Amino acid sequence: MSEAVLSTQSASQQTNIRHNWNLAQVKELFDLPFNDLMFKAQVVHRENFNPNEVQVSTLLSIKTGACPEDCKYCSQSARNKTDLEKESLLAVEKVFEAAKRAKEMGSTRFCMGAAWRNPKERDMPYVLSMVKGVKELGMETCMTLGMLSEDQAEQLQEAGLDYYNHNLDTSPEHYNQIITTRTYQDRLDTLDNVRTAGMKVCSGGIVGLGEKAVDRASLLAQLANLNPQPESVPINMLVKVEGTPLENVDDLESFDFIRCIAVARIMMPKSHVRLSAGRSAMNEQMQAMCFLAGANSIFYGCKLLTTENPETNQDIALFEKLGINTETVVDDNERVDKLVKTAIVDQQHSDLFTNAAL
Ligand code: SF4
Repeated sequence: MSEAVLSTQSASQQTNIRHNWNLAQVKELFDLPFNDLMFKAQVVHRENFNPNEVQVSTLLSIKTGACPEDCKYCSQSARNKTDLEKESLLAVEKVFEAAKRAKEMGSTRFCMGAAWRNPKERDMPYVLSMVKGVKELGMETCMTLGMLSEDQAEQLQEAGLDYYNHNLDTSPEHYNQIITTRTYQDRLDTLDNVRTAGMKVCSGGIVGLGEKAVDRASLLAQLANLNPQPESVPINMLVKVEGTPLENVDDLESFDFIRCIAVARIMMPKSHVRLSAGRSAMNEQMQAMCFLAGANSIFYGCKLLTTENPETNQDIALFEKLGINTETVVDDNERVDKLVKTAIVDQQHSDLFTNAAL
């Protein structure tokens, strides 16, 4: 490897946002010696973010299970025989209650997710009320509801929705092995509708789906070549759920996952790279390596259905060991940082909330 690749100057050149990545260039990053890749990613990270801050996002499931889509990894697909308890769309008041509670505990952004192919017209008044009500509480809002038409995206934007999550999941080449009920282009069209309506985009993927290394490179090229790049990029490690077609797929090597985070950081220098599902299966050292590779957001979710609370204060303990603070959107960082940490503990001990990193 040339010395130029190892130099800080060379690494810093990656901070320029590019939308013209080809597969060979992404593979070259993946193929760097591990330490060189980590160094390069850390330099880019430090140029764009405080390296000791991590954003904490939370999620409320507003409609769970019975999804008509056939995503082979998902416990919520009606086609997969899992133990998940289904729940129809939550009453708007219940959503406000959960949002108020999240706010009291220091959360600044409230994400709402529904297991739908797309929202039906009859659902729209409810979800729009949810957005307006949560917005009135003074919180940022995020939703993930499946595919959106142009008109639905506009309605959500007008109601005050800040972010919309819609993942690409995997590479275009591997996509048909994972989902057949909607196309890759459907996903890109939804992202386009979200952008055109003026909302921020949250979009990432899942690794460990039995894909090849080249698929991981191809997925990141797709995400980085979106113009603008997504503000938030969740990188999920597959959680193998019994009853899904992927329950026995081979585990992904930990270093391959960390490489994915580092390459995402380099290619999308100004995006929040979110360490999302699968985090519960990672030990502290692996999570620390992911933060070093440039992950700066974690997904700590709450759902109203699941009652299992497997962890106690592990996130906070890890943040303290690493000297990491939680990122906030208000001035009084110390106070809110404390509140967010309290919120994490509270969620872990509440029947209402469960760990969405699972
Ligand atoms: S669309 Fe979403 S909820 Fe439905 S099966 Fe796919 S991942 Fe699961």
